[in-house]
Amino acid sequence: MPRSETFPAEGVRRLYELTRRVTSSADLAEVLEEIAQGVVDGLGYGVAAISRLEGDVLVMAAVAGNDEVREEIVGRRTPAEQVLGREFSIADHWGILRFVPHDRQPEDQIESLWVPDIEAGAEPDAWHPLDALYAPLYSADGVLLGNMAVDLPPDNKVPDQQQRDLLEMFVVQAGLALENAQRREQLSRQVMLGEALRRLTTAGAHGDLDTALRAAVLGLTEAMDAAQVSVRCFGDTAHDQADLAAGFPRAAGVPGELARLLRRDLTQWVEGGELRPRLVTVDGQHPGFEASGLALVRHLRDHGWAAALVTPIALSQELLGYLVVMTIKPGVPFHPEEIEAANEAGRELGRLVRDARLRRTERRLVAELRELDRYKGELIATISHELKTPLTSIIGHTELLEEAGVHPSSVAAIGRNAARLDRLVTNLLNYSRIQGRQQLDRGKVDLAELCRGTLDMLAFQSRTAGVAMALEVPTEQVIVWGDGEELPRVIDNLCSNAVKYTPRGGQVRVSVRARQGMGEVVVCDTGLGISQQDQVHLFSAFHRSTNPEALTIPGTGLGLAISRTIAELHGGDITVESELGEGSTFTLRIPLVE
Ligand code: ADP
Repeated sequence: MPRSETFPAEGVRRLYELTRRVTSSADLAEVLEEIAQGVVDGLGYGVAAISRLEGDVLVMAAVAGNDEVREEIVGRRTPAEQVLGREFSIADHWGILRFVPHDRQPEDQIESLWVPDIEAGAEPDAWHPLDALYAPLYSADGVLLGNMAVDLPPDNKVPDQQQRDLLEMFVVQAGLALENAQRREQLSRQVMLGEALRRLTTAGAHGDLDTALRAAVLGLTEAMDAAQVSVRCFGDTAHDQADLAAGFPRAAGVPGELARLLRRDLTQWVEGGELRPRLVTVDGQHPGFEASGLALVRHLRDHGWAAALVTPIALSQELLGYLVVMTIKPGVPFHPEEIEAANEAGRELGRLVRDARLRRTERRLVAELRELDRYKGELIATISHELKTPLTSIIGHTELLEEAGVHPSSVAAIGRNAARLDRLVTNLLNYSRIQGRQQLDRGKVDLAELCRGTLDMLAFQSRTAGVAMALEVPTEQVIVWGDGEELPRVIDNLCSNAVKYTPRGGQVRVSVRARQGMGEVVVCDTGLGISQQDQVHLFSAFHRSTNPEALTIPGTGLGLAISRTIAELHGGDITVESELGEGSTFTLRIPLVE
């Protein structure tokens, strides 16, 4: 077909067809193949080869028209300067196309060119095997994305104006399609990285650190299409804690000696406030890796990896571990969003290590406190047993003293104080007994009856103290499932406290009721009241109010601790509502018999 007929009608139709195909592809590699194939099939060139610009290197990505050439040059990496700099500087500008005629081709350049096996024609416009024609691929805003070299033009003639226009128009469209495909690729990468980070955070929140480390290496390997991801968190030697590590696809992480050197470098970064990931490439670039750089490069070489991205895991200025991502991709081994994701993963792992440490410390403290509590219980039990026997003897002999003519007031004083000591020791014994108790002896217990018993017992004391006592019971019996020995202790304690801490002229009202499956005893007094601050520790053993007025009244601070333990052993509780100077209301709740 004479070339003048190719354009415009047929040419435009082909161009339209090509552009449509190219722009409909989603996959980046497919788009490049389509573009190259389009130039061969649609525009009639013998060979088209597209290289992608990755950093300062052109990587041959797609070749159409000649399978042998494809085998030979796909994946080949050429310094961008050699083509875009040197070649372009001696080229004729055909719009955005660049044409280097054979006679201008520098000697040393010829070696790197693919030279077709054709004879140079005699006509002035004949294509010469050493002629080179380039079509750079640009994004919409003029960023160079790649370069296409075409050879063996239609009819083996240097393309005329119409063909140049056609190629140029196609290349402009192809650049846009390439840009779109790259954007889509970037977007899907971002989505995958986001997903990997989300999985890491979830694993950290739900599981232990070990699970989180495994989630990190799996997720990042997938999202970054990495050759290997390894992570290590240093143990806490002070607490006999071993290192934790994970790796994927190989479980083994960075080998011993390299790990030691790497740790030395990373410690320096972190101490200097440098927490961002850094890159080591197999061709020997390792800024910041003073100690470990050479060993790292050797490690990359041994495994056939192109680069490693190393991220410290740190907490303020302490190095806690590291994350290493290896790739086989040269050129641009890691995209900016991947570096950001590694950075974020490092930060998240730092947070998780900190949380795990806090949890460990917490567990240790709780264990220590438990041990202390057990020891305290034992101590109380032993001491109170030892005190009980001599006290009984003292009380017995006091009675003999009066008969022997000792002044009655002295005998009374000895008796009062011995009785007080006896109450303290009894309380101590009760406390240690109830603390060690797991099971109760339960049966049907009538709450109103218990309260009547308590009021009888306190009748003399309340009358002497000038405190009026009243009992309100419902007509229906309130029967709880309780321990007939232990429950009276609780009601006695609440009621005697109410009388004890209520000044003369005050009132104590005890009510019994059933409510929401529980039997309740409400002890309400018009006494001293308890400040909010004291209420916090009210039920702790040995706690006494800070209120000076209450402190003048003898007490051990054990009654409420014993009472609450008994209530809880019943599956019930005791609550308090009180205001300083206004009186207090204590409510005991015990499950009703069903
Ligand atoms: P004790 O009365 O032997 O000191 P408790 O454990 O029974 O020990 O009570 C702890 C503290 O709570 C008391 O020292 C007292 O300060 C305060 N408290 C208990 N009940 C009342 C109450 N009804 N009114 C005011 N303060 C009370």
